[in-house]
Amino acid sequence: MSLTPELQQKIEATQALLRDIGQSYPPVAFANSFGAEDMVLTDLICKHTPNIEIFTLDTGRLPAETYTLMQETLQRYGQRIVPYFPEHQPVEQYLREQGPNGFYESVELRKRCCYIRKVEPLKRALQGKKAWITGLRREQAPTRTDLSVKEWDEGNGLQKFNPLIDWSHQDVWDYIHHFEVPYNALHDQHYPSIGCAPCTRAISVGEDIRAGRWWWENPESKECGLHVKKIAVPA
Ligand code: SF4
Repeated sequence: MSLTPELQQKIEATQALLRDIGQSYPPVAFANSFGAEDMVLTDLICKHTPNIEIFTLDTGRLPAETYTLMQETLQRYGQRIVPYFPEHQPVEQYLREQGPNGFYESVELRKRCCYIRKVEPLKRALQGKKAWITGLRREQAPTRTDLSVKEWDEGNGLQKFNPLIDWSHQDVWDYIHHFEVPYNALHDQHYPSIGCAPCTRAISVGEDIRAGRWWWENPESKECGLHVKKIAVPA
């Protein structure tokens, strides 16, 4: 398939932005969670901006399909991706006190699990960085409508960039198909947004694209703490 002139323009603008971020904010890192948007950015960064580090948060609870994609990505782009894993002591304490699926019991327990498995490793990944990059898009969720391409991340104390902020769902998939970028097999099984295996399900036609994430909670509480403007540390 060929790209529309509009998408070609967006790609060129995103490449220019990534180059500028890489030059103006070293050291800078891109957080890759292996969703479709993150695979677009991985492809762009690996092809055009080698000075941007790529890292991923391996929570230890990811779906098998995500680990398959992680392996495929390493093979295609080389050893570019730095993994961060949760500290074993808080994980063991949580398992002892709440069990492996304690996060279903309350929003507080879910956020505590996300803090241990995602937020704390993210803080380690961002240590010493001047900026970080995400694949967030504005149309993804009610919690993301006020996002901008560049914002100050108060919780982590550094600049944050969302280069795909104005990309549409169609733009992302046109890019993936055109450049034959590898993607998560779960996307073909009605999983538009993919996180940890026990906290992600497929969605039905007409449901919000993030309805499958923490499906038992209200839409307003559906963030893991990685993308809030000020991170609240759960008790
Ligand atoms: Fe824990 Fe679920 Fe959050 Fe993953 S998404 S860190 S399993 S609560």
